[in-house]
Amino acid sequence: MNQTPRTVLGIAAPQGTCTDQKCPFHGEVLVKRELYPGKVVKRDSNRSATIEWSRNYYVPKYERYEMRRSRLRVHNPTCLNAQIGQDVLVAKTRPLSKTKHHVIIQIRGKVEQPLAEAASAPEAKSKKTKRAVA
Ligand SMILES: [Zn+2]
Repeated sequence: MNQTPRTVLGIAAPQGTCTDQKCPFHGEVLVKRELYPGKVVKRDSNRSATIEWSRNYYVPKYERYEMRRSRLRVHNPTCLNAQIGQDVLVAKTRPLSKTKHHVIIQIRGKVEQPLAEAASAPEAKSKKTKRAVA
């Protein structure tokens, strides 16, 4: 059933075993040359994931930047199996489901520890309250 794994946009096929028909390396899905980098923020059991990236948007009235973010529902092939916190690269494909039109083709980062993020959050909060008192 499986074809020989192929390279996608110069990226070699991952080592993991795969019977995923929607996998760009082992399945029958072809990718387009429209790429988005992002971070996995949600991972579903049905080979789906949500990625997110942010950018600074200038607000002229306040002469400051605000952070704007974009989210995208993507397919997570079994051979890549991206985890929450990993930086990934996704490519556009044909529609894979009602909400998915993109597929992960590369994992670029390591898994971040959610504990470190949680530990730094209350610190920032206490700083803010101190400043408000003074
Ligand atoms: Zn695969």
